[in-house]
Amino acid sequence: MTQAHRADDALQTRAVHPPAHRTGSLSRPAAPPVHRTATFTFDSSDSFAAVMTDHTQGYAYSRIDNPTSDEFARAVAALEGGQAAQPFASGMAAITTTLLAFLSSGDHVVAQRQLYGGTHHVLTRVLPRWGIGVSFVDSPQEAASAMTETTRLVWCETISNPTLRVADIPAFAAVAHAGGALLAVDSTFATPVVCRPLSLGADLVVHSATKYIGGHSDATGGVVVGDRHHLDAVRALRTDLGGSLAPDEAFLLLRGLQTLPLRVERQNRTAARLAEGLGARPEVESVQHPGLSGHPDHALACAVLAPGRFGGVVTLTLRGGESAALRLCDSLRLCHIVTSLGGTATGVSHVASTSHRQLDDAALAAAGISPGAVRIAVGLEDLDDLLADFTTALDGL
Ligand SMILES: *Cc1c(COP(=O)(O)O)cnc(C)c1O
Repeated sequence: MTQAHRADDALQTRAVHPPAHRTGSLSRPAAPPVHRTATFTFDSSDSFAAVMTDHTQGYAYSRIDNPTSDEFARAVAALEGGQAAQPFASGMAAITTTLLAFLSSGDHVVAQRQLYGGTHHVLTRVLPRWGIGVSFVDSPQEAASAMTETTRLVWCETISNPTLRVADIPAFAAVAHAGGALLAVDSTFATPVVCRPLSLGADLVVHSATKYIGGHSDATGGVVVGDRHHLDAVRALRTDLGGSLAPDEAFLLLRGLQTLPLRVERQNRTAARLAEGLGARPEVESVQHPGLSGHPDHALACAVLAPGRFGGVVTLTLRGGESAALRLCDSLRLCHIVTSLGGTATGVSHVASTSHRQLDDAALAAAGISPGAVRIAVGLEDLDDLLADFTTALDGL
């Protein structure tokens, strides 16, 4: 068998045939070996020095590079259509390292207002300590006005949490590039099955692999994808800061990634049908899902996301407010009460008391989040069983 990976294969084919390194041997393991080692040994001091100084490709120390972790990063790069990628110990390690790789003291970031809480915290509480400023915007038009001479980075999320707003990535890319800045996109909620930001003009794509890419709620990791030049800078800083991905976690993430397209297609289909079904219930005030024609970004989602794919998350707002939302979460049979998403089992969380607990009522309202909002991250259960679970729980409210 020759090298199986081809960049023009479809996504699920690429997911099970990631780019492999050729070795000299006649046979290869079908599953990736776990290179569970902290350091690597050499036959001579010369070859050790050649690797340490990047004169020869090779491995010396797993904080710098590890073959299993690299294989994971290459697999994600192949799905995103990027030249290069770097593996990280968590999504936040990927995000902070990316921010610090392209920002210096005195620089400025333009970021979408609805951001993952951890990213928001780093931008508002951590980076200002080094004199790095941030302006939050709601649209590419506002981003254009917020750009300054020191803006180096524009940051957005393909699908935001929990209101599921969709970013106009081509427009954000145009604004960033006109101002001499890079566009970085956190595409965790979308995955490369739903959107490929690099093909829409983004320079860097970041994922929390803990979510859909790993897909089984059993490993924490992150990844950044982009062109070789930018990723060299990310690798250099990853090595210095140390948020590198461990080989055991890389193995689990690689295993999960092989079924990413199958899982995400299924979760997207179930989410769309669940959103339609729940919207018809009298206890439900509103349902947010980009696939619904009433969603404020539905037309944009059709333009920016893959045909017929709108993500696997549905946000439900109950007429009965917070108490009804909490009762719904507590009375579902199949849905785990859980903070994360992208796993095999459906997860629910009451938004106001969990992921957005730092926001007071006014801030929640400004962010478009009602006290009765419940985020549903759809899993792999059969649609009819999920619908029956929600029907029973809503009947009991
Ligand atoms: C979970 C998440 C992160 C952070 O990832 P960790 O793996 O938990 O560090 C970043 N962005 C988004 C959109 C997320 O959902």
